[in-house]
Amino acid sequence: MIDLHLHLDGSLSIEDFNYLAERNHIYLGDNFPENVYVPNDCKSLEEYLTRFDLPCSLLQDEFSIAYVVSSLVNRLYNDGYIYAEIRFAPQLHTLKGMSQENAVIAAISGLNFALKDKEGFDANLILCCMRQSPVEVNMHAIELADKYRDKKVVAVDLAGPEAFLTGDHYTSLFDEAKKRNLNIIIHAGEACGSEEVIRAVDLLHAQRIGHGVHLELTKENIRKMTENRITFEFCPTSNLQTTSLPDYKAVPIREFDKYGIAVTINSDNMTVSDTNVLKEFRHLYKEFNLQKYEVRHFLTNSINASFTDYATKAMLLNELNKKIDSYYDLIIKEE
Ligand SMILES: [Zn+2]
Repeated sequence: MIDLHLHLDGSLSIEDFNYLAERNHIYLGDNFPENVYVPNDCKSLEEYLTRFDLPCSLLQDEFSIAYVVSSLVNRLYNDGYIYAEIRFAPQLHTLKGMSQENAVIAAISGLNFALKDKEGFDANLILCCMRQSPVEVNMHAIELADKYRDKKVVAVDLAGPEAFLTGDHYTSLFDEAKKRNLNIIIHAGEACGSEEVIRAVDLLHAQRIGHGVHLELTKENIRKMTENRITFEFCPTSNLQTTSLPDYKAVPIREFDKYGIAVTINSDNMTVSDTNVLKEFRHLYKEFNLQKYEVRHFLTNSINASFTDYATKAMLLNELNKKIDSYYDLIIKEE
């Protein structure tokens, strides 16, 4: 499997929580571990985002960040993944004085440590800017993505509550990212509508859109997305939990694909959403009777849209060929 949209702080294992809580003297709450998952009656993206407070409180020093990156990579590899891009906002890890830069260095070291003994697998990092943060804090994340671009940092992203401010408030930030030739992802068309996806592409130079399920498939929009080779990172379960979509049937995977818009399937947050890419494909298989060639097609979209070099993409295509039969067997198998 491949996950291009995977938030580090939303994907700590229960063991990570227990270990870091003891080490860092943090109380996990009376209702742990239920309180790490999104509640069944979650009403909005804003409510969903409150689930990140506890994991972030554990990740305020270099050791903890390196530890969870390493743990996540080990779990992905053991679950049969071949590639992942793990994203996090370095600014959320500065509450106890750690610098954004040291958070990035720690994540890189945890990643490299875990990758050392892994064949047929690779992973990279994406640095998130946050919609609700001051421009200078976000600008520093852009600078760090540039500084560490050859050390496993492959892109910048804009995350956080989408309804906070519209995309046109972030043009200086992403003009700078574009000037530095960084890869750009924007969370858009999740809590808000089609117009935010258009702003992300027209104003913020997005190459990939996080979610984007609310894009209206007008002739003009289809042309814009295909001509600019925009890839969409769908995260179905997360969209249902934030009430962005009513059910799996509403995931516009067939519609986007029909018009030649590249769609990928991702988890968003393995723990907060209690999911992974295999489970996401299972939901889509049940709803749309996805065939093996379609699963291969969507995973190939992920390889094509990954921010990695050609040699790694060739390796991933080779690994996908070897693994597609077993992936599909797992997807269609009843749990
Ligand atoms: Zn996300």
